[in-house]
Amino acid sequence: MIPAKFDYRRADSADEAIALLDEYGDDAKLLAGGHSLLPLMKLRLASPAVLIDIGRLRELSYVRDAGDHIAIGALTRHRDVETSVLLRAEVPLLAHAASQVGDPQVRHRGTIGGSIAHGDPASDLPAVVLALGGTLVARGSAGAGGERTIPATEFFRGFLECELTPTELLTEIRVPKVGKAGWSFQKFNRRAQDWAIVGVAAVRNGQTGVALVNMGTTPIRATAVESAVAGGASATDAAAHAADGLDPPSDLNASPEYRRHLATVLVRRALEEAAARGR
Ligand code: FAD
Repeated sequence: MIPAKFDYRRADSADEAIALLDEYGDDAKLLAGGHSLLPLMKLRLASPAVLIDIGRLRELSYVRDAGDHIAIGALTRHRDVETSVLLRAEVPLLAHAASQVGDPQVRHRGTIGGSIAHGDPASDLPAVVLALGGTLVARGSAGAGGERTIPATEFFRGFLECELTPTELLTEIRVPKVGKAGWSFQKFNRRAQDWAIVGVAAVRNGQTGVALVNMGTTPIRATAVESAVAGGASATDAAAHAADGLDPPSDLNASPEYRRHLATVLVRRALEEAAARGR
């Protein structure tokens, strides 16, 4: 399919991108790696009148040690997250999960900011940032409120809907340093490069954070599992709560019942692996 007609503007700086967002508002969409937006446009599920290309904003492509956390620019490609020496040492869960996204072509084009802003419940990185208790930095023009930080737990609002307003640019993803913590990323798919049928991100850093991929309309924090672990439950007993209150999707790959079962199995494996790694 061919996308509907659109105008194209290329931003050469974050400030210019924000000014263009202010100018076009709801009519515009930001284009980062294009690996989620362009398929939607080709299917005519999205028809923005204007595309604002931010794909070449080098100022938003970085991984930095920021003291108590690691700061990642929103335009950082999955491949750069995967291979970052800093992330491998300080947040290995995120570097590993990035290595599981799609295929090399997807990882060389797709960006962490695009993945988070898109908020697809089947995406890997939003669940990882949720499990880690990360924070998102959004920037709008001064008139639109300037810069604000949003906890990942408050960011994902509904299917492909997030807390960003149409005139805000996601600029940075902040994740705590958890280099010594136990962690696990369980991605269950039929073929190596597919999206997760169900996925689980877990980290044990004093408290245990667990989040689920493809178990609802948003990336989901498995709070019932986390509470059970905090209360001293075994991995098996805590994992029994993996699908509590959830309404997972049905598609060609799996029924909701199958997804609930998978979530239970994968959460148990994730808790066991995180415990073994954290010793
Ligand atoms: P784009 O497609 O450019 O944008 C996505 C959305 O986010 C758009 O609405 C855009 O306006 C908005 N946006 C982008 N950047 C910003 C920003 N900085 N601020 C505000 N809004 C912004 N993902 C996985 O997690 N796991 C997989 O296994 C996987 N497999 C894939 C396989 C294929 C074949 C393809 C095509 C994609 C796959 N993906 C997978 C998705 C991939 O990770 C995408 O790159 C990612 O979801 C979106 O990032 P992007 O940079 O391409 O964003």
